[in-house]
Amino acid sequence: MTKIEQIFWGWAKYSFMTLGWKPKPEQWHLAEQRLYICDDCPLRINNKCSKCGCNLAAKTLVEESKCPEGKW
Ligand code: SF4
Repeated sequence: MTKIEQIFWGWAKYSFMTLGWKPKPEQWHLAEQRLYICDDCPLRINNKCSKCGCNLAAKTLVEESKCPEGKW
């Protein structure tokens, strides 16, 4: 999956969640684990990664996405 596709699917999933779509339990668990790591990262600014510029709520929902610092 290209970076553009990852961004698209991250935003699509995040947007669908606001409309009532729920991630599968394993997707939700993975996103929670990733956000937990981001919580302690100095590069996190609110809900954004200052390294890659991504919205973390959206980025962490895409299984293929990776932390630019290799933390997850
Ligand atoms: S560098 Fe990685 S761990 Fe840190 S905020 Fe960005 S995605 Fe999260």
